[in-house]
Amino acid sequence: MTSPETQDPASQDAAESGDGRPDGGSPRRHVVVAGGGIGGLTAALALERAGFSVLVLERSEKLGEVGAGLQISPNAWRVLKSLDATEPLEKVLVKPDSIRIHSARAGGQIGRIPLGETAEHRYGAPYCVIHRGDLHKGLAETAMARPNIDIQLGIAIADAEEDETGITVEIQGSEGISSHHAEALIAADGVWSTVRRRLLRLPSADYSGRIAYRATFSTDQAPDLAGFTGLWMGENAHLVHYPIRSGSLINLVAIAEGDWHGETWSTPVDRDEVLQHFKNWPVTARHLLERPASSLKWALCDIRPGTIWAEGRIALLGDAAHAMLPFMAQGAAMAIEDAHVVARCLAEEPDVDEALLTYERTRKDRVERVMRTARENARIYHMKGLMAFLRDTGIRYLSGQRLLSRYDWIYDWQPK
Ligand SMILES: Cc1cc2nc3c(=O)[nH]c(=O)nc-3n(C[C@H](O)[C@H](O)[C@H](O)COP(=O)(O)OP(=O)(O)OC[C@H]3O[C@@H](n4cnc5c(N)ncnc54)[C@H](O)[C@@H]3O)c2cc1C
Repeated sequence: MTSPETQDPASQDAAESGDGRPDGGSPRRHVVVAGGGIGGLTAALALERAGFSVLVLERSEKLGEVGAGLQISPNAWRVLKSLDATEPLEKVLVKPDSIRIHSARAGGQIGRIPLGETAEHRYGAPYCVIHRGDLHKGLAETAMARPNIDIQLGIAIADAEEDETGITVEIQGSEGISSHHAEALIAADGVWSTVRRRLLRLPSADYSGRIAYRATFSTDQAPDLAGFTGLWMGENAHLVHYPIRSGSLINLVAIAEGDWHGETWSTPVDRDEVLQHFKNWPVTARHLLERPASSLKWALCDIRPGTIWAEGRIALLGDAAHAMLPFMAQGAAMAIEDAHVVARCLAEEPDVDEALLTYERTRKDRVERVMRTARENARIYHMKGLMAFLRDTGIRYLSGQRLLSRYDWIYDWQPK
């Protein structure tokens, strides 16, 4: 990590006469990544691996992630593995043996999807759960150890201008505004992306009318929850829990309907606010929600499919391109896949505009299918009355293998 000063690409080239040149010949092509979240750091790793030098600009003064969990499905794991980024994660992740599906209407478990060895055998890669902070830290450490990745903190992208030689990015740091020249700008600056809204003038994400309450608590408080993922579906709300941080913590996410909205991951609320959404739920589920004293709330948003992802030398990646509802647990996974594809397209096609359009064309159908599936799951999870009864009957009837196989098209994805 360097101090937040602007870099002159000429001096950068001069400094790269050693291992900065991928084949010992021409200097590395240079790309700026906006945002040092999961998508931005993976993009930096993929671009570096593809032969680029990368400057990551992160608006926050400190690298870090909110205290909550994340599911990493086999499709995302394969990309991280191909980037040699999984070693620091191995020590802290958990491979849950199954997803136990519960219905608030039925009052208990109605199905079980096998994960663990079954998923690893089926997909050739594990299905893991991890603390977001641990994933982020692992990616940041791997990125910082790479000689051609520079991460600068406390720097926000403010503007950008293209010319025939590249793109000049205007950046805002504590010392004022400065500029930086590169071949391309990859914007991984999240759901409220400045690049999306200000530079590409695209519509913002829409609030979905749902709120996620997230909390973690010690597994000592609930040893019976270790080792598996739990899903509870109910009228206008659902719950997900799974172990993280080597199994020492339980991550709990409660999703309910509500019109509160704010642009932060971390608005604290007390447990009564969460419990009021689950008044008529079975006592086992309410008992879960009583464990953490407080939660962080986050207004769920998604971006309407159909908007562009790339224009000229700018491409959006991750939530900036396609923020989605978390009901498939695929937002970060899609950002990780994007990272692999954008790096490959830029490496294979010297015309940057064309490369970024190819990236968009390659990714869009798949990601939009995932977004639609997440929206459909939102409807299914929150069903009531007869529809909930039919849903529960269907789940009881299907085998675990059959339930898992519905998502083969997501988890089988291979980085090429
Ligand atoms: C409740 C919930 C549960 C979820 N569970 C899962 C899951 O299990 N599995 C999964 O795959 N996904 C999950 N997701 C989705 C996942 O969290 C996101 O898709 C993922 O974090 C997006 O990563 P990103 O890098 O695109 O954006 P972010 O993580 O938002 O990172 C953006 C970064 O850009 C920085 N930034 C912003 N503006 C600027 C600027 N102007 N200049 C420079 N930097 C800037 C920000 O500070 C931030 O660090 C979940 C989401 C929610 C809400």
